[in-house]
Amino acid sequence: MKVLLISANTVVEPYAVYPLGLDYVAAALAADHEVACLDMNVVAEDDALTVAIHRFAPDLIGVSLRNIDNTDALNPESYVPLYRRLVEKIRQFCDVPIVLGGSAFTMFPETLMALLDADYGIVGEGERMPQLLDALENGDNPSKIHGVICRSGASTQALPLSEASNGRLSATPAGIDFYLRHGGMLNLQTKRGCPFRCVYCSYPNIEGRVMRHHAPSKIAEDALARQDAGARYLFITDSAFNADPEHSLAVARALKSIGLTIPWGGFFAPIRMPGGYFDILAECGLTHVEFGTEALCDSVLQAYGKPFRVSHVFDAHRAARAAGLHVAHYFLFAGPGESEQTLATSLSRIDRLNKTVLFLFCGMRIYPHTALYELALKHGQIESDPSILEPVFYRSPRITVSRAADMIAEHAKDRKNWVHAAGGEATGEILDRMYRGGFSGPLWEFLIR
Ligand code: SF4
Repeated sequence: MKVLLISANTVVEPYAVYPLGLDYVAAALAADHEVACLDMNVVAEDDALTVAIHRFAPDLIGVSLRNIDNTDALNPESYVPLYRRLVEKIRQFCDVPIVLGGSAFTMFPETLMALLDADYGIVGEGERMPQLLDALENGDNPSKIHGVICRSGASTQALPLSEASNGRLSATPAGIDFYLRHGGMLNLQTKRGCPFRCVYCSYPNIEGRVMRHHAPSKIAEDALARQDAGARYLFITDSAFNADPEHSLAVARALKSIGLTIPWGGFFAPIRMPGGYFDILAECGLTHVEFGTEALCDSVLQAYGKPFRVSHVFDAHRAARAAGLHVAHYFLFAGPGESEQTLATSLSRIDRLNKTVLFLFCGMRIYPHTALYELALKHGQIESDPSILEPVFYRSPRITVSRAADMIAEHAKDRKNWVHAAGGEATGEILDRMYRGGFSGPLWEFLIR
């Protein structure tokens, strides 16, 4: 079958992110199908779409939906209208089956199936697509495949794939030139699933709660292939790279021993780590650590369901800094348990995180299948059968999002290392200029104070 895979994401702030999920799906299909990829991030939308469909003449089109909205409580923007326009445009040119997938789709499968009038959907990991194509080619009923939704059929909650059936990337990723020209950053994943239980987080629903590791040797081969293809930086997209210390150390050592020389970074949880952990990672090429810290007040961390406390944050910060790494912290204020007092406590402690960059978010987006959803339901903030497809944020009974934003703005004043959300258009423009000047990587280290 000829399959056109489209990444619908067009978010480029603070920088464009290579559509890694599409690469995994393309690799899973490559043995038995002819696959082409189109990345809406890097093409002039209508023309490229028309040309790709006419030239390739696909038998089926897969559309990957990455984010449902910008998760910004102060300036919320839903991406659903963009996705709708894209699918409508596809329908103008051809009537082949359309299959939806991706993390945004996995959160709202039935609603998006209906809204976008798709033929099929894949909940969870897109590497199920070969099973769907087999069923279509053999005239079997695809709704029997776990995680596959048909236009009229009932949905099934996807089980994560087994370790053996996933985890390889295409050796020659499609459409990487844009990313190599704009920062040289490509990405990869070392495992799927997150064992932690942060109340607001959609990752466990999307990837599962059980960690499924990719083999360090295979990850290293994929990393080297990306370096050979021209990547100048690798970002590890795992929900928390250090959630399994042993595996992450094995991955780091495999990257070093295979001869990876480009720097890399990733998301980390500021949990208690074995002694010397960050030193070993630094020796193996890690340069950037992005901690999902969220608050510096124990009662709030507890209410958020975080697997660490304030003392762990400072320990992890010190250890990463001592290893010579660039360190950033993400904060998420005004969730459950937040009040003016707890926020003031967090703000008063933030300055003790020396030599860092802070990415500050206010307001917690409510996603289905999360403890926050249940809490919001219990407190009457959402209906039992709500439409939370449009951005809906948790309302703390003791502080509003706008009051929290004012307190943060007051405290931030002219601090250059305090960045609101992803930094907005201004940050995107600065990064774009620096990339054109030959810089590579996430570059937030230039904001460190
Ligand atoms: S550690 Fe990160 S990915 Fe895991 S549940 Fe918490 S916020 Fe989500």
